[in-house]
Amino acid sequence: MIRKLYPYGKKKTFNVTYDDGVLQDIRFVELLNKYQLKGTFNLNSAMSESGFEWIHESGLVVKRLKTEILKSLYASHEVASHTLNHPYMDSLTKEEILHELSADKANLERLFGAEIKGFAVPFYYYSELIETCVKECGFEYARISEESCSFTPQNDYYNWKATVFHCCEELEDLTQRFLETDEELAIFQIVGHSYDLDVENMWDLMEGIFAAISTQSDILPMTTVEIIDYLKAMEKAEITGRYIQNNSNLSLWFAVNNAVCEVKPSESIAISCAADVHFS
Ligand SMILES: [Zn+2]
Repeated sequence: MIRKLYPYGKKKTFNVTYDDGVLQDIRFVELLNKYQLKGTFNLNSAMSESGFEWIHESGLVVKRLKTEILKSLYASHEVASHTLNHPYMDSLTKEEILHELSADKANLERLFGAEIKGFAVPFYYYSELIETCVKECGFEYARISEESCSFTPQNDYYNWKATVFHCCEELEDLTQRFLETDEELAIFQIVGHSYDLDVENMWDLMEGIFAAISTQSDILPMTTVEIIDYLKAMEKAEITGRYIQNNSNLSLWFAVNNAVCEVKPSESIAISCAADVHFS
């Protein structure tokens, strides 16, 4: 009778979370913008500043984008921290971890003029100590390296898993399953680095996925922090057989007896009259 929905009555959400702020992000962001999709871009401010480069085993020189272009490039997307210098954090002390996180957050906030709420773990190492540091630095979530391979919303926001790494063989199969799923609050989030699209010759594959996602009207593009803020707000809602009480500062959306209802911040609706009060 009651089904949770994303904003504007959409059933599912999609985004990408891409790391390192590399040259190929220019083409990648153009592609996202073409299909009006959303991305979260996880940046290392010190490496952008120094113009860090390295040689991929394919021979491709992977280049960081210079600081000057970051603000305009990522204007309609989320920017999150990926540490200052992309270290292997397993060898760092707590003070060093805190510095890597807090200095990057401060640099990005200065550059973008907005609060940086998200953190994505560099390489694969994550621990309780890093999780503690992420919380101490005031981040709202940490995206770890493991994949969920699932569309189910998660509630451990400091161990957040994207659905699938873009080079995974399951990518197209998962995309098709996402297009067909009727799971409540389904999320599909692709993780990667845009230089892989050059190395693996995957630009057409990604564009095909974006085109397919963008044609489905029940999918809402959201950034990672928008999804997490919405899921947190949904967790606070009181949902009974008689009413829905929104205890958050975001509008929440539901299908009640197949009628789409918006419950505004701090408001409640009676279930019996939901379809009469709100539009369907
Ligand atoms: Zn990285």
